[in-house]
Amino acid sequence: MPVLELDQLVKRYGKNKVPAVDHFSYRFENGVYGLLGPNGAGKTTLLRLITGGLLPDAGTVFYNGQDIDELGAMYRADLGYMPQQQQLYDTFSVRRFLFYFAALKGLKKKEAKEKIAELLSLTGLTKKAGVLLKTLSGGMKQRVLLCAALLNDPKLLILDEPTAGLDPKERMHIKNYIYRIACEKTVLIATHVIPDIEQIAREVLFMQHGRVVLSGRPDEVIKKVQDKIFEVVISRNAYEHLSEMYPINRVSGEREDRIHVRVISDAPPTAFEAAPADVSLEDVYLYLDSLTSPSMQDGAVP
Ligand code: ADP
Repeated sequence: MPVLELDQLVKRYGKNKVPAVDHFSYRFENGVYGLLGPNGAGKTTLLRLITGGLLPDAGTVFYNGQDIDELGAMYRADLGYMPQQQQLYDTFSVRRFLFYFAALKGLKKKEAKEKIAELLSLTGLTKKAGVLLKTLSGGMKQRVLLCAALLNDPKLLILDEPTAGLDPKERMHIKNYIYRIACEKTVLIATHVIPDIEQIAREVLFMQHGRVVLSGRPDEVIKKVQDKIFEVVISRNAYEHLSEMYPINRVSGEREDRIHVRVISDAPPTAFEAAPADVSLEDVYLYLDSLTSPSMQDGAVP
């Protein structure tokens, strides 16, 4: 069972800049981990430190108790990495692209042939094997990239925004594949599409300004903010008044001129008819965000 341990990782870009990753420590074991955070939180930088593509200014990445710098090729043999918005070789066919990647990863031809057939089948791309990459939809391209990351049967799989730019059905496909292959692996997924990891993550890590601000099992982190999210039912006219008083999470529908609004508040909003809300990971994310940005409300009813 792979164990990945990050010990006080620091990465600064340029001289004396605010660190993109700031004394980040965490232990990852078997299962899916969701790394959540706004743009610029440091997710991609952290993943690149983990994959060894970027060297930290301080701190160490340990894989099964050994420094990854010392493990070198042995570490890379266990690693699969799907970077964000990777350039595809548009004039390659799916099969040619995967053979090319397999060669880079040191797979023998026969081994590559078997593995590629297996992965194309797993991701529903068998019929597309001979098709040029440039003719594929965004979702199919993402699946090809996932196949490329899986060629060496990695024990540690790092995925950076694997569902970026996909429609809901394509996102669901990718999510299901990840879930199917996740057993016996450590899978770390950076995303800001929370529903993509909501049901499959063993643990979630909320990252802001290069640090973990909250982490744990989804039910544990939800429990931490359970008493801070309220559902308020108000008239459309009262919305503006409410949004001036509280950060608003979301508006969830209008019936007979009454709208359901989620607000963040340490105590139940007294001036309104309010009830504790059924909290989701998205609420946790927005709650943490509200702690750092004083005004979340946009003042507009969609
Ligand atoms: P995320 O993936 O969460 O959006 P990033 O790791 O891409 O965050 O970025 C974290 C911070 O580091 C941001 O402030 C970003 O502007 C900065 N940054 C990222 N890459 C570079 C780079 N190559 N050079 C300079 N600054 C960078």
